Amino acid sequence: MYDVIVIGAGPTGAAAAKALADSGLKILIVERMKLPRYKSCSGVLIKKSMDLVNQYFGKDVPASAMCTPTDNHGMILTDDKGKEYVFEQEGLNVWRSSFDNWLTQNAAEAGAELRDCTSAITCEQSADHITLRLHSDKTYTEQARYVIDCEGVTSVIKRKALGTSPEFITTFQTFNEGNVKLDPHYFYAYLQPELSEYDAWFNVKDEMLVLGVAVRDTSKMPHYYDNFIRYMTEEHGLAITKTMKKECWLMPRIRSGCNIDYGIGRLFFAGEAAGFLNPMGEGISAGMESGHAVALSVIEHFEAPASVLNDYKKRTEMLRVYMRRQWHFAAGMSETFGEMRASL
Ligand SMILES: Cc1cc2nc3c(=O)[nH]c(=O)nc-3n(C[C@H](O)[C@H](O)[C@H](O)COP(=O)(O)OP(=O)(O)OC[C@H]3O[C@@H](n4cnc5c(N)ncnc54)[C@H](O)[C@@H]3O)c2cc1C
Repeated sequence: MYDVIVIGAGPTGAAAAKALADSGLKILIVERMKLPRYKSCSGVLIKKSMDLVNQYFGKDVPASAMCTPTDNHGMILTDDKGKEYVFEQEGLNVWRSSFDNWLTQNAAEAGAELRDCTSAITCEQSADHITLRLHSDKTYTEQARYVIDCEGVTSVIKRKALGTSPEFITTFQTFNEGNVKLDPHYFYAYLQPELSEYDAWFNVKDEMLVLGVAVRDTSKMPHYYDNFIRYMTEEHGLAITKTMKKECWLMPRIRSGCNIDYGIGRLFFAGEAAGFLNPMGEGISAGMESGHAVALSVIEHFEAPASVLNDYKKRTEMLRVYMRRQWHFAAGMSETFGEMRASL
């Protein structure tokens, strides 16, 4: 019997597992991919994420997790009318595989047992524990007093437990060799409706030009991506000489009110699985903060699942206010996010 099983070795699961292991509880982390695992991402750690890493892991992000240019200077946002805004902020440029693996190894060093290539399939709740069905080279079960589901956007366990079907935004991004007349130290986001159904973005990672668009209707992806490439060529002198990689991923679609699924019984959700995600796809800070918060709630109210739930809600109240404010701000920048005006 584990005290807590954490599903998913992303920033959310790592932050939860580190706090739980530090408190001396018996923890198992299960991750369906082989570590270090790939995650499609712009890999921008905003200042808040950098501070949370320091606070929860007691260390700075190591150089081995970074890509060039290592320093991110903030975001340059173009609104739906084509007006540009510069938001200066200290940040870092990381590869998610190395960054997330480093976080997870820190949790393991604190005492959490780690099993990669292991998927959580179903969970069954009893009065005083949860039975989790896992699959690696065989299917078997493990038991725990609590399960913290940090599965990210796909959240199979959450969907089965709540019977809900989440809405997704599909992202498409390419990694290219070439040139562009933009400062590589910034993350660029574009909200013009002709460029995407959500946002379009550009940043630089190890000299590769990363260009992406987000859509609701996947059949329109090539149309928006072509528009975006044409726009970047005309406005910023983009010249691609070689496309090295193309990838599609998912993000949760956040709706007005920024509803969060906190948990049910002894099963709790954190990070993207719970619905925490800020505009322009910034989710690492909210993931780590919610993962850490639910861990502290479990530690403090170990014998009372209902108190864990209430305490988790309280601990993440400010995080939710922050998230609502951010989405409300995005609504002021683009009609795409118009419904989020009601978020405050
Ligand atoms: C294109 C793109 C760009 C982004 N750019 C940024 C950015 O620059 N900065 C930023 O802050 N955020 C960014 N994000 C958002 C960020 O990646 C996510 O919000 C963040 O990864 C959420 O962390 P998480 O730990 O909740 O989930 P994840 O990082 O997705 O981790 C979940 C883990 O759970 C594992 N898992 C899933 N199901 C199971 C299962 N059943 N059993 C076992 N393991 C399972 C997965 O393999 C995964 O490793 C971006 C997202 C996208 C799609």
